[in-house]
Amino acid sequence: MSEKRSTFPLPLSSVTGPAGRKPAAPAPVATPQTATQNARSNSQPPAPRGPAYVGAAPGGPGKAPAQPQPQQTLARSDQMATEAPRRAMAARVARQGVKDGQVLAALETVPRHLFIEQAMYAQAYTDVSLPIGHNQTISQPYIVGRMIELLKGRGPLRRVLEIGTGCGYQAAVLSCVAQEVYSIERIKPLHELAKSNLRPLRIANLRLQYGDGMLGLSQVAPFDGIILAAAGLEVPRALLEQMAIGARLVAPVGAQVQHLQRIIRTGTSEWTSETLESCHFVPLRPGTV
Ligand code: SAH
Repeated sequence: MSEKRSTFPLPLSSVTGPAGRKPAAPAPVATPQTATQNARSNSQPPAPRGPAYVGAAPGGPGKAPAQPQPQQTLARSDQMATEAPRRAMAARVARQGVKDGQVLAALETVPRHLFIEQAMYAQAYTDVSLPIGHNQTISQPYIVGRMIELLKGRGPLRRVLEIGTGCGYQAAVLSCVAQEVYSIERIKPLHELAKSNLRPLRIANLRLQYGDGMLGLSQVAPFDGIILAAAGLEVPRALLEQMAIGARLVAPVGAQVQHLQRIIRTGTSEWTSETLESCHFVPLRPGTV
């Protein structure tokens, strides 16, 4: 890692930056980044309109992960404007097979349209991945829900690491179901975009880090859960080492053909691995840009 790093942890509430931050809108075309074998239903809910909407207000570190609570700070009417499409999206993800109530509630709570360009608002609550710039995409709601469900064991998720913040959407969803979330992004402008997208949500238990996620975050390890939003040919060794005993890691693995893999650390030097459904993610790359 060659470039300068932000002081860590970086509370979002302390982040300041230019207001009008979004880059030029890419074409409003859905891309197949995280298409899986799930049955798709792309019926379009009403497009959300207007400026700031907010949903997630998860529990802070040290607290039990709360059911997501809408923030009180932004206009309730704005929040309500996207309620119906968010509910429809979560119901669709449930029909596609995600059963965990906490995960579905988180998907219903986080305003996905805040993480994409306004030109694509009409697709915000459909089950598609969408471009976020720098050849990267925001994942489909289904795959976000599926992976988080796979990450969750029976007990509450305490400390979770995400590799591949992108626009910050999955990190926001994770913050509703885990006590502490750390998310790493290797592309500086996307790290900045995520900070900017997440700032209005004021999520107290989420920390963003600019860096190479293949190295993990040893200063915060061990983690109870690690989730990768980009596919490598194998899971980096450093991430396996940063799992607590009993922890789970969920990752897409492969190149052209990819499958979700779930790894559980069963001992100091023992891991078990399951290969699950096929998927399609952007590549996991080393270093920072
Ligand atoms: N979590 C995002 C998905 C972003 S796409 C969402 O909510 O939709 C995957 C992201 O992984 C990209 O932004 C890409 O830059 C990032 N990535 C790839 N390799 C990485 C690495 N080694 N470390 C950190 N981020 C990485």
